Amino acid sequence: MNIVLMGPPGAGKGTQAEKIKASYPIPHISTGDIFREAVANGTELGKQAKTYMDSGQLVPDEVTIGIVNERLTREDCQQGFLLDGFPRTTIQAEALDQGLAASGRKIEVAINISAPNEVLIERLSGRVSCKDCKKVYNLQYKPPAQAGICDVCGGQIIQRDDDRGDTVARRLEVYLEQTQPLLDYYRQKGLLYELEGNRDSIAVWADVQKILEKF
Ligand code: ADP
Ligand code: ZN
Repeated sequence: MNIVLMGPPGAGKGTQAEKIKASYPIPHISTGDIFREAVANGTELGKQAKTYMDSGQLVPDEVTIGIVNERLTREDCQQGFLLDGFPRTTIQAEALDQGLAASGRKIEVAINISAPNEVLIERLSGRVSCKDCKKVYNLQYKPPAQAGICDVCGGQIIQRDDDRGDTVARRLEVYLEQTQPLLDYYRQKGLLYELEGNRDSIAVWADVQKILEKF
């Protein structure tokens, strides 16, 4: 099963990706996670990516495409994969299709989760996560039991640099300008499923499962 998961920041994409990962034995490829790990490790890629991420901009297509296409050639992706946060531009989507076609593969389903802008802003500005196990909390709706400490592992609670102030607004703009047009790309191919993300994550998950059952 070759899946693309899309949606503006804050729509609940990451939560659904975790659920898919737990239910289907396919690798989860998140470009955001790949970049954050590179930043944390201080690699050349990390240095390059950081300036874009901190200002809410997309990392240049040629960098991102190279990383994902390389990842998809590995053995563990041959029976399926979940792409989370990629593609984000039409150029990335075209490059993805070309890369997959070279090995006789294609995207089978694209799921987009969206929510009204006000909801996204509210969710993102309250979003924090555990530094160690990465569990996500929201300071308004789902705070950790003890302030600053992870319920699951006792790790330190931190805020993502790009969840601060202006960067949140910029990321939403970038989504509308560069990623929203991509929905047409998958719609025209008959691959697009659109879900409302302004609901309980359990309800969204029920819909995701209904879609994936068909494949
Ligand atoms: P979000 O919560 O905004 O959906 P991600 O964790 O997916 O964020 O990505 C964080 C940042 O990493 C993005 O704002 C962008 O700078 C960079 N990034 C992630 N995926 C891509 C991509 N496919 N193309 C370009 N940049 C990307
Ligand atoms: Zn934790």
